[in-house]
Amino acid sequence: RFITLEGGEGTGKSTQARHLAAWLRARGHTVVETREPGGSSGAEALRAVLVDAPVDGWDAVGEALLLSAARRDHLRHVIWPALRRGDWVVCDRFADSTLAYQGHGHGLAPETLEVLYELVAGPFGPDLTLVLDLDPNVGLMRARARGAVTRFEALDIAFHARVRLGFLDIAGHEPERCTVIAADGDEDTVTARTIKAVQARIEA
Ligand code: C5P
Repeated sequence: RFITLEGGEGTGKSTQARHLAAWLRARGHTVVETREPGGSSGAEALRAVLVDAPVDGWDAVGEALLLSAARRDHLRHVIWPALRRGDWVVCDRFADSTLAYQGHGHGLAPETLEVLYELVAGPFGPDLTLVLDLDPNVGLMRARARGAVTRFEALDIAFHARVRLGFLDIAGHEPERCTVIAADGDEDTVTARTIKAVQARIEA
């Protein structure tokens, strides 16, 4: 099974991915925890190129291409082999982030991003996607508090508001795959919501 966690800055995706993986392991599953951008050695190298780039380093097209190359490497070397072994894969961000950030946020056409995704992954996709939803003002405050402010977070609040609406739009269009989780409240509260959503959606 392939589960992805999506959402804007400071929504707690990484923390919840960790809790979800621990919960699945406690139920006897072998779980590969991974992330995008990154997750394989080639993709982590591309992540560094992306995340550490100067503010004017990449435009949305460049980002989409780098993210796609990274995703291809991640799928070939980590995600697909794990699923072939019968492991569960919990991934912190995946293709919905590209649609939300480069599409809804930066204005690339969704059709273009879909063509890129098809090239990279074919008909493959997550079994379940958990969209952690939070007011970006709160999320950015959380991200700043832990010092996780990269060039991406420096973009304006209107951008992050578009990204949030982007994730909600994706979830609205694919309700059988996506479930939206309110990411306000403390860590334990959001974990409980996350586990409940997984239990409701798949036999774990
Ligand atoms: O998920 P994480 O915060 O580790 O992502 C690293 C950075 O990459 C974030 O600041 C995020 O905004 C950015 N990113 C992006 N477009 C994507 C995925 C991530 O701008 N499609």
